[in-house]
Amino acid sequence: MVERIALGSSDIQISPLGIGTWQWGDNMFWGYEKSGYNAQDVQAAFTTSVQAGINFFDTAEVYGLGRSETLLGQFVRQAGQPLVVATKFMPFPWRLGKGRMHHALRHSLKRLGLDKVDLYQIHWPLPPRPIEYWVEAVAELAQVGLTRAVGVSNYSADQMRRAHGVLAKRGLALASNQVKFNLLNRAPERSGLLQACRELNITLIAYSPLAQGLLSGKYNPQNPPQDFRNRSYAQLLGKIQPLIALLKDIGQAHGGKTPPQVALNWVICKGAVPIPGAKNARQAQDNVGALGWRLTEGELAALDAASDKL
Ligand code: NAP
Repeated sequence: MVERIALGSSDIQISPLGIGTWQWGDNMFWGYEKSGYNAQDVQAAFTTSVQAGINFFDTAEVYGLGRSETLLGQFVRQAGQPLVVATKFMPFPWRLGKGRMHHALRHSLKRLGLDKVDLYQIHWPLPPRPIEYWVEAVAELAQVGLTRAVGVSNYSADQMRRAHGVLAKRGLALASNQVKFNLLNRAPERSGLLQACRELNITLIAYSPLAQGLLSGKYNPQNPPQDFRNRSYAQLLGKIQPLIALLKDIGQAHGGKTPPQVALNWVICKGAVPIPGAKNARQAQDNVGALGWRLTEGELAALDAASDKL
């Protein structure tokens, strides 16, 4: 049985690894229905994850222009068991009034087929409205019961403290901050964000924990991903091969753990909750294998050192 941990200081209990669902329904970046995976595959990823004990799923109104929420909602209802659903509001610059957030959440709930979400997150700290404005808005939604907990995403330590302060004045807590965190991007560790999360009891949800598949070990300069990642990662793919080799060696020392399992375990050992995206049952099954064991201090230090060299 997969253990449960608290989401921030809320009463929501989540598995120490969740599933990201940007891939579900998105063909612009991930090639849903265009590059070898479809609704059956993502449903199998969902079912495999739930059967393995995962209860935490992350989506957003913008993923697949709403299709991710629709697919996730359909799967959650069919599963017929309590699961933790997180979605996000995008403060587009043309969304100026607080009512726009209420409207957006109503639409998300409709697509999800739920009467409330467990976690509603502000996707980015975008202008023109200040952080405080949207945090006040989401607090109101929490107070009328449309979300059980409040989260932010892509907030710096300072922005997160401001959000935390606004909520505290209303007797609410900030449950989470979702940011990019993986062996190739350790900004949350270096900027003090991870430390601030510990201090304030805010869960750091790590997105792109596999560096969008780069840490899976299946890509190299001769075999790069054939999509939006191709150009942005062309140089990096060569440089990271020593790190990939280390992920493989460490995995062998743990009875054949795979590079994704080791990379996700590293995130967990740092005190964050990774939400890898899975396109199919095989990836979901593999990623769940990051749970139930831990890297040693020596292995963590070796991985830190290899990632420092990049
Ligand atoms: P990721 O989880 O690091 O990588 C996901 C990709 O890696 C998959 O689409 C798959 O792509 C590959 N993969 C996954 N598991 C694998 C395995 N076991 N073996 C081999 N390949 C595997 O990146 P992400 O999707 O960017 O991030 C995860 C989630 O975080 C998203 O789904 C979303 O929910 C969230 N997110 C949030 C934000 C934000 O601003 N808050 C931004 C980005 C993402 P291929 O098979 O095509 O290689």
